[in-house]
Amino acid sequence: METIIGIDLGTTNSLCAVFKDGKPILIPNSEGQFLTPSAVGMVDEKVIVGAAAKDLKVNKPELAALYFKRNMGTDSDFKIGKKVFNAPELSAVILKTLKEDAEKFLGHEVKDAVITVPAYFNDHQRKATKLAGKIAGLNVKRIINEPTAAALVYGFHDQDADKKLMIIDLGGGTFDVTIMEIFEGSLEITSTAGESFLGGEDFTFRMAAWTLQQAGMNFEMVEFRKPELMARMLKLCEKAKRSFADKEEVEISIPDEKGELTDQKISMSSEQFTEITAELMKRLEKPVIRALRDSETLPDEVDEVILVGGATRMSLVTDFIKNLFKKDPCCEYNPDQVVALGAAVQAALIKDDQAVEDMVMTDVCPFSLGTEVTKVFGHQNQDGYFLPVIHRNSVIPVSREEVVYTMYDNQRQLNIEVFQGEARKVKDNIQLGELKIDDLPKHPKGMPIHVRFSYDMNGILEVEVFIPESGKKYSTVLTNHAKHLDEDDLQEAVEKIQKLKFYPRDDLRNRRLLLFAESVVGELNVYERQSLEELIDTFETALNSGDKDYFESTQNHLLVKLSSLGHPYKSNPEGLTE
Ligand code: ADP
Ligand code: MG
Repeated sequence: METIIGIDLGTTNSLCAVFKDGKPILIPNSEGQFLTPSAVGMVDEKVIVGAAAKDLKVNKPELAALYFKRNMGTDSDFKIGKKVFNAPELSAVILKTLKEDAEKFLGHEVKDAVITVPAYFNDHQRKATKLAGKIAGLNVKRIINEPTAAALVYGFHDQDADKKLMIIDLGGGTFDVTIMEIFEGSLEITSTAGESFLGGEDFTFRMAAWTLQQAGMNFEMVEFRKPELMARMLKLCEKAKRSFADKEEVEISIPDEKGELTDQKISMSSEQFTEITAELMKRLEKPVIRALRDSETLPDEVDEVILVGGATRMSLVTDFIKNLFKKDPCCEYNPDQVVALGAAVQAALIKDDQAVEDMVMTDVCPFSLGTEVTKVFGHQNQDGYFLPVIHRNSVIPVSREEVVYTMYDNQRQLNIEVFQGEARKVKDNIQLGELKIDDLPKHPKGMPIHVRFSYDMNGILEVEVFIPESGKKYSTVLTNHAKHLDEDDLQEAVEKIQKLKFYPRDDLRNRRLLLFAESVVGELNVYERQSLEELIDTFETALNSGDKDYFESTQNHLLVKLSSLGHPYKSNPEGLTE
């Protein structure tokens, strides 16, 4: 059977893993790193992916895109230089790169993949992810929830355990909470809750907004009109955010419009950080409480709280967990890597690998799915009510039916609108799509209509309507989302991505050093700046000359200079994977 790779396609970072010799292992990228920043940029009309693109974003924000996962399933476009991409296309660029890394690592072609998504991703976002896989030339065998993937790693390594785990996954842009029970090799997810627009980046944005405000600037104006300033500000806030781990107060320099640092500095205390992010922490609390309630679990019944995702490193988050559960969270496996490793375990399950033959896993549908109904109050009809067909935390795959009735005599038309959410009124839930029927048989009002929802292992919903009176069936896999591409569009997207010229991988490492050094320039005073710029110029010349000795010596000079300026170059940009 073909190899299936496991991919964690993150908002901030993406990783790839494979199940080999009885265990999941990570696959390094062309720079030898496991984490590939989810960033796409253009240099000399060629695509660069990962750390180099992330550095490019600081100096030339118009030439790179980040955080596009936040726009999966929406209409938004991203402009990179002269080219325009949507979120699935940019995700496809990342997936294609990971696929190539895997092929190089394994020494053969790879076609199949398991891709993880935040548990709280809705139908549109999941389909957009599947689409990204297709555009990248991957056959997406399964879409699985990120916390479920993390749970699989814990379950795989501890198959004989009998315990309850809570997985808390706070990444760059999404937040998921999952409760799982392990018992004699069977892993049962009992509840999942979350928010698909809450992550570490929101903390960074809040910091940037507050700092700019203190400096007398308006965040929105900067965000929309001053991309260089904004990109630098976010980079500085990201660094400051991390330094709260061992500092009570951080100083953030204010960049000018070109993104270069001025003498103005704003200091932020850890209390202020806590205050400006209090609303985010409140939002974090809700899904945790709900997941506990849904699985009828008390905090002290949770044996282990497992942290996943880079943003769980914030002491705000660990303190919150300690307070609630009265115990230290556990990170037996690297929180950045565990999701990708779990995707590889899922791949092994699909392939019936011997190493997982005693493992059984069940997952749940994280949210309620239902339709709109009209309620009758006396003589008054009131529409807009939500009727759940699949209740949240039902074990998947699941298929359930509800019966609704026509409202009028000889009613010919019916619109089954499909919603996701927990609110009583549909207007407060997310609309996923609709199924229109305009040939109902003539019949007095009150004719029964059977509405069946089926939610599969990938978290994709199918809606089926059956009219007993006429014996007719109508069905749809919901497609009513903004960026749904039909086969022709898909082919076009595949060709568009195939046609892109990628920056030669072997040169990317050096190009990254150059982009990194350029991104540092804006943070220096005028004298430091001049001396660094001279070295960058020589390095660039050496890079283009093809003279190995000359190149190596200028490279060394540049590395030493960067360190002496307090901006050492790390080949591992996140500094997280050691
Ligand atoms: P994703 O899965 O969404 O790609 P990650 O799990 O890689 O995200 O987490 C990225 C987020 O974690 C970013 O918002 C980043 O700022 C944050 N992060 C990473 N390391 C730290 C740290 N040491 N302190 C605070 N936040 C961190
Ligand atoms: Mg993640």
